[in-house]
Amino acid sequence: MSRVIYLDHNATTPTDTRVVEAMGTYFNEQYANPSSIYKFAQEANEAKEIARDKVAQIIGAKPNEIVFTSGGTEADNFAIKGVAFANRNKGNHIITSKIEHPAVLNTCKWLEKQGFEITYIGVDKYGIVDLDELASTITDKTILITIMHANNEIGTIEPISEMTKIAKQKGVYFHTDAVQTVGKITTDVNELGVDLLSLSGHKFYGPKGIGAIYIRKGTKIDSFIHGGHHEYNRRAGTENMPGIVGLGKACEIAIKERETDEKRIKILRDRLYNGIAAAIPDIILNGHPKHRIAGTLNICVKYVEGESMLLNLDLEGIAASSGSACASGSLEPSHVLLAIGVAPELAHGSLRFSMGHNNTEADIDRVIEVLPPIVKKLRAMSPFGK
Ligand code: PLP
Repeated sequence: MSRVIYLDHNATTPTDTRVVEAMGTYFNEQYANPSSIYKFAQEANEAKEIARDKVAQIIGAKPNEIVFTSGGTEADNFAIKGVAFANRNKGNHIITSKIEHPAVLNTCKWLEKQGFEITYIGVDKYGIVDLDELASTITDKTILITIMHANNEIGTIEPISEMTKIAKQKGVYFHTDAVQTVGKITTDVNELGVDLLSLSGHKFYGPKGIGAIYIRKGTKIDSFIHGGHHEYNRRAGTENMPGIVGLGKACEIAIKERETDEKRIKILRDRLYNGIAAAIPDIILNGHPKHRIAGTLNICVKYVEGESMLLNLDLEGIAASSGSACASGSLEPSHVLLAIGVAPELAHGSLRFSMGHNNTEADIDRVIEVLPPIVKKLRAMSPFGK
């Protein structure tokens, strides 16, 4: 396989070799069902609980507040549907933002069909949720607020702890989709003040198909997947043991390494932006200049299509994105860029580079070398001129 310059870490990350190694045993050596009663199974169960401790540790939770899921999407569905149905007697109103991941937005849209009322609140030009709008949108029917910790497309970090203060005053549950922050920046459930939080292994060098939901003790929530008595009766199904052990290992590594990683990645991100901005006129930075996760650089390049730039970058062995992976392939401009006020024609010219711990300065310099001629060529062919 030829080496790709991989700049799409917000879509997924490579699984760390230490994680792969830790998982290996749990396929065909220690393959017991952790619910069985013999010693061999109890050993599997112990490994599961060690992993749970590590997941709890990375977000400052208690182990019995962690439930393993199949990933971020399931955790989001569980949090939102679970709280919605368990608290229906209190009210039917949920607040979210216009820039959430489809795992949240489409769950909310589905709930609308079940009789729930959803308010999609706006954000400013950097993607920050308006706190006054949030406060004034809460009614006596509001049961849940779900706002992401950091946005996957533009990287903006939301002031969650300020929002949870508002929610608490009004007795409303608060869920945050922290899929893009856990493992990358400090994400502590008590500092944030959230009742529920979603995380996903494959965004921070863990395996795909495993995640977790944090449920603060005392939160009224219905089960989402019914069956056996797994996961404190909250999420049925024989556990994905290799995944769980892998997630635990990814948390252990991130706790030790994320700070150093973050500093290094931020330098790469700024090097990339400065290099591109110096060589290409008419580009716009999307997302908050300061309150942004280190690895994310989202830009709009005027007068060209994001898809065309991506294809040309791909020919050079560079993997990037023009929005979220889930939204790409559709011709609709990014809902996130539209929400921050980017004009639709400009939103079509967006590029997202997301850096990770394998990237080097040489990777960045290669992009700075190849992107300007690509843009020049595409602009020369563009009907919009320049
Ligand atoms: N939420 C956010 C913010 C994401 O970026 C993603 C993945 O792209 C998800 C949820 C979904 O997570 P998973 O891929 O683990 O289902």
